[in-house]
Amino acid sequence: MTGLTAESAGGRRGAVAGLPPGIAITDLRAAYGRIEVLHGVELLVPPGSVYALLGPNGAGKSTLLKVISGRLRATSGQVVIGEKPVGKASTEKLARSGVCAIPEGRGVFPNLTVRENLRIWTYRGGMDINEVEDTTYEEFPRLKERRRQMAGTLSGGEQQMLAISRALVTHPKVLLLDELSMGLAPLIVAELYDLVGNLARKGMTVLLVEQFVSTALSVANRAAIMVHGRIEQEGSPEEMAEAALSVYLA
Ligand code: ATP
Repeated sequence: MTGLTAESAGGRRGAVAGLPPGIAITDLRAAYGRIEVLHGVELLVPPGSVYALLGPNGAGKSTLLKVISGRLRATSGQVVIGEKPVGKASTEKLARSGVCAIPEGRGVFPNLTVRENLRIWTYRGGMDINEVEDTTYEEFPRLKERRRQMAGTLSGGEQQMLAISRALVTHPKVLLLDELSMGLAPLIVAELYDLVGNLARKGMTVLLVEQFVSTALSVANRAAIMVHGRIEQEGSPEEMAEAALSVYLA
């Protein structure tokens, strides 16, 4: 796992050396049925960094997050989180070892209230619900007003606040975010990504997929562009801003 260092994170937002695990992906292939979608992905996400994965529609970004979070089995290749190869681990096992995935379209239980959703997250770590509620409501006062409301009837932004509060209270080592901005107003998106930046500064490793390039690059300290199931380019946010322009125009 040499190479996964704070220095290689680009340093812009102060990645934390050695503490949390990074993600190392080697020659990863994955398919839906017989159609291969990831054609040998190579990616190093340094520990404690925010890493943005950009690329056109259908490039395989969400699929890569699915493989890392154990929701889709790779056909070959390796995913290492920290020091541990996790290729065949279940989502449950990965969650226990500190991987939190917030999938596209929110990661909440729609038929449970806000408070019940929070209570579910306390089960795994034996956390105190009052503490979890305090932490969540301090960050998102709007959720306090709505704590008895079904999560499925919250606005998109409120659902996303609830989804991301899972990372806030369970302190995962690795956070995988898919299209956090989906359908949300720019102000809420900025608020949520501010929180993501804060979590990374505390040592969490964040890999995010985001369709809004400038939004993603404003919070990231490293980024890659994926095209047709492969990482085509990788570099600093400044480098990737320029590269994205030519990839998207092409
Ligand atoms: P977007 O930015 O549009 O969300 P993406 O880069 O996240 O795209 P993926 O969602 O990973 O791309 O999809 C990659 C390819 O895999 C696409 O061609 C898509 O149609 C296909 N695909 C995704 N999910 C499935 C599925 N469940 N079954 C079959 N094919 C799928």
